[in-house]
Amino acid sequence: MKIVILGCGRLGSRVALKLGEDEKNEIIVIDKNSDSFSLLGKDFKGKIFQGDGANMETYNKIMNEKVDIFLALTNIDNTNIMAAEIAKQKYKVEKTIAKVDDPIRARAFEELGIETICPTLLSEKKINKMIEKKKIKESESDGDV
Ligand code: AMP
Repeated sequence: MKIVILGCGRLGSRVALKLGEDEKNEIIVIDKNSDSFSLLGKDFKGKIFQGDGANMETYNKIMNEKVDIFLALTNIDNTNIMAAEIAKQKYKVEKTIAKVDDPIRARAFEELGIETICPTLLSEKKINKMIEKKKIKESESDGDV
């Protein structure tokens, strides 16, 4: 599968390394800051491309062949939303996923048919679960006495 990842930060680099473990995957990672590519380490087998995800020229250079999966994982919601729209509408990428920190925008965007990951909502869910666990533990130990 050909996979393009926009944003080689803490999340993008980890996802790129994981997907790159499968030799059948051809990975291209884009970042505007060349320092970010150091997060991939020296054994990364995919390609890197320094370019701005807010600039159409970047996509013209990268997306000319069929792309199976496009992941927009920069730290900027607007960039991710725009990039995912370009990938889906202009380049007809079937699987397009965007990281969107703002829960309101993430939901609106989902409704437009683009899959989103919202770290804020995921964190909220995780915190609620952790608190719920603590409550259950406390009520169990109350029952013991
Ligand atoms: P992190 O906050 O660790 O997830 O990193 C986010 C990454 O997204 C950084 O490496 C940024 O350089 C990168 N980034 C932010 N904006 C853009 C953009 N417009 N085009 C390409 N990469 C970007």
